[in-house]
Amino acid sequence: MAEVGVAKFFKPFNISIAFKTSNSVKRNLVKPLDKPDPLSKSGVYSLHCADCPTIYAGQSERKISTRVQEHLGLVNKFKATDIVETKSAFANHLLSTGHNFSYPNNVAVVHDCQKGKKLDLLEKLEITRAKNSPVLPWVNNVFNFEPGLIFNNIL
Ligand SMILES: [Zn+2]
Repeated sequence: MAEVGVAKFFKPFNISIAFKTSNSVKRNLVKPLDKPDPLSKSGVYSLHCADCPTIYAGQSERKISTRVQEHLGLVNKFKATDIVETKSAFANHLLSTGHNFSYPNNVAVVHDCQKGKKLDLLEKLEITRAKNSPVLPWVNNVFNFEPGLIFNNIL
Protein backbone atom coordinates (compact mmCIF):
# COMPACT_ATOMS: atom_id res chain seq x y z
CA MET A 1 0.00 0.00 0.00
CA ALA A 2 1.42 3.34 -0.95
CA GLU A 3 1.99 5.91 1.75
CA VAL A 4 -0.94 8.09 0.65
CA GLY A 5 -3.21 5.05 0.63
CA VAL A 6 -2.24 4.13 4.15
CA ALA A 7 -2.99 7.66 5.37
CA LYS A 8 -6.38 7.62 3.62
CA PHE A 9 -7.25 4.28 5.17
CA PHE A 10 -6.67 5.51 8.70
CA LYS A 11 -8.26 8.94 8.23
CA PRO A 12 -11.85 7.86 9.11
CA PHE A 13 -10.50 6.54 12.41
CA ASN A 14 -9.08 9.94 13.15
CA ILE A 15 -5.63 8.52 13.11
CA SER A 16 -3.08 10.52 11.26
CA ILE A 17 -0.08 8.78 10.00
CA ALA A 18 3.34 10.33 9.96
CA PHE A 19 5.81 8.93 7.55
CA LYS A 20 9.43 8.73 8.32
CA THR A 21 11.93 8.26 5.62
CA SER A 22 14.95 6.16 6.19
CA ASN A 23 16.74 8.12 3.55
CA SER A 24 17.78 11.34 5.20
CA VAL A 25 19.85 14.11 3.71
CA LYS A 26 22.27 13.74 6.59
CA ARG A 27 22.74 10.08 5.87
CA ASN A 28 23.50 10.83 2.25
CA LEU A 29 25.90 13.65 2.94
CA VAL A 30 27.73 12.45 6.02
CA LYS A 31 29.71 9.32 5.54
CA PRO A 32 31.19 7.66 8.58
CA LEU A 33 34.81 8.64 8.98
CA ASP A 34 37.19 6.03 7.75
CA LYS A 35 39.18 4.43 10.49
CA PRO A 36 42.66 5.88 10.53
CA ASP A 37 44.88 3.48 8.67
CA PRO A 38 47.62 2.30 11.05
CA LEU A 39 49.87 1.68 8.06
CA SER A 40 49.78 5.38 7.26
CA LYS A 41 51.69 6.17 10.45
CA SER A 42 55.29 5.74 11.49
CA GLY A 43 56.17 3.02 13.93
CA VAL A 44 57.35 -0.51 14.40
CA TYR A 45 55.87 -3.14 12.17
CA SER A 46 56.26 -6.81 11.55
CA LEU A 47 56.00 -8.68 8.27
CA HIS A 48 54.72 -12.23 8.34
CA CYS A 49 55.48 -14.74 5.64
CA ALA A 50 52.23 -16.20 4.29
CA ASP A 51 53.75 -19.65 3.90
CA CYS A 52 55.88 -20.20 6.98
CA PRO A 53 56.29 -18.76 10.48
CA THR A 54 59.05 -16.36 9.47
CA ILE A 55 58.61 -12.84 10.72
CA TYR A 56 60.56 -9.67 10.23
CA ALA A 57 60.40 -6.71 12.55
CA GLY A 58 61.32 -3.26 11.35
CA GLN A 59 60.75 0.39 12.00
CA SER A 60 59.75 3.20 9.74
CA GLU A 61 60.00 6.90 10.40
CA ARG A 62 57.84 7.40 7.35
CA LYS A 63 54.51 5.75 6.72
CA ILE A 64 54.79 2.07 7.46
CA SER A 65 53.00 1.37 4.18
CA THR A 66 55.77 3.18 2.27
CA ARG A 67 58.47 1.11 3.95
CA VAL A 68 56.62 -2.13 3.38
CA GLN A 69 56.21 -1.29 -0.30
CA GLU A 70 59.98 -0.93 -0.49
CA HIS A 71 60.43 -4.50 0.75
CA LEU A 72 57.85 -5.71 -1.75
CA GLY A 73 59.36 -3.62 -4.53
CA LEU A 74 62.60 -5.57 -4.15
CA VAL A 75 60.71 -8.84 -4.39
CA ASN A 76 58.92 -7.71 -7.54
CA LYS A 77 62.12 -6.38 -9.05
CA PHE A 78 64.11 -9.57 -8.57
CA LYS A 79 61.57 -12.38 -8.52
CA ALA A 80 62.16 -13.26 -12.15
CA THR A 81 65.92 -13.32 -11.62
CA ASP A 82 68.37 -15.48 -9.66
CA ILE A 83 69.06 -12.65 -7.25
CA VAL A 84 68.08 -13.47 -3.68
CA GLU A 85 70.33 -11.03 -1.84
CA THR A 86 68.89 -7.57 -1.46
CA LYS A 87 69.09 -4.96 1.24
CA SER A 88 65.91 -6.38 2.76
CA ALA A 89 66.22 -9.61 4.71
CA PHE A 90 62.51 -10.17 4.37
CA ALA A 91 62.62 -9.74 0.61
CA ASN A 92 65.56 -12.17 0.59
CA HIS A 93 63.44 -14.72 2.42
CA LEU A 94 60.62 -14.45 -0.12
CA LEU A 95 63.00 -14.47 -3.07
CA SER A 96 65.04 -17.46 -1.85
CA THR A 97 62.06 -19.60 -0.85
CA GLY A 98 59.38 -18.51 -3.32
CA HIS A 99 57.11 -17.92 -0.36
CA ASN A 100 54.29 -15.45 -0.61
CA PHE A 101 53.26 -12.31 1.16
CA SER A 102 49.91 -10.62 1.13
CA TYR A 103 49.67 -6.88 1.62
CA PRO A 104 48.25 -5.61 3.93
CA ASN A 105 47.08 -8.86 5.52
CA ASN A 106 50.57 -10.01 6.49
CA VAL A 107 51.65 -6.70 8.02
CA ALA A 108 51.14 -5.98 11.69
CA VAL A 109 51.65 -2.58 13.26
CA VAL A 110 53.29 -3.42 16.55
CA HIS A 111 53.80 0.07 17.91
CA ASP A 112 52.72 3.28 16.38
CA CYS A 113 55.04 6.04 17.41
CA GLN A 114 57.10 8.94 16.17
CA LYS A 115 60.69 8.70 15.12
CA GLY A 116 63.48 8.89 17.61
CA LYS A 117 65.02 6.87 20.36
CA LYS A 118 61.73 5.39 21.43
CA LEU A 119 61.19 4.01 17.95
CA ASP A 120 64.68 2.53 17.94
CA LEU A 121 64.10 0.88 21.28
CA LEU A 122 60.72 -0.48 20.30
CA GLU A 123 62.15 -1.94 17.13
CA LYS A 124 64.90 -3.63 19.07
CA LEU A 125 62.36 -4.90 21.54
CA GLU A 126 60.33 -6.48 18.76
CA ILE A 127 63.37 -7.99 17.11
CA THR A 128 64.46 -9.40 20.45
CA ARG A 129 60.99 -10.74 21.09
CA ALA A 130 60.98 -12.41 17.70
CA LYS A 131 64.47 -13.77 18.20
CA ASN A 132 63.62 -15.18 21.61
CA SER A 133 60.43 -16.78 20.42
CA PRO A 134 60.81 -20.56 20.55
CA VAL A 135 58.41 -21.11 17.65
CA LEU A 136 58.96 -18.29 15.20
CA PRO A 137 61.89 -18.16 12.85
CA TRP A 138 62.80 -14.56 12.26
CA VAL A 139 64.90 -12.67 9.77
CA ASN A 140 66.47 -9.31 10.35
CA ASN A 141 69.46 -7.80 8.74
CA VAL A 142 69.33 -4.87 11.09
CA PHE A 143 69.94 -7.03 14.12
CA ASN A 144 73.22 -5.40 14.97
CA PHE A 145 73.00 -5.04 18.70
CA GLU A 146 73.27 -7.34 21.63
CA PRO A 147 70.05 -7.47 23.50
CA GLY A 148 70.91 -6.18 26.90
CA LEU A 149 69.66 -6.90 30.33
CA ILE A 150 66.73 -4.57 29.90
CA PHE A 151 65.21 -6.51 27.04
CA ASN A 152 65.94 -9.85 28.59
CA ASN A 153 64.25 -8.73 31.78
CA ILE A 154 61.22 -7.39 29.93
CA LEU A 155 60.77 -10.53 27.88
ZN1 LIG B 1 58.35 -18.17 4.45
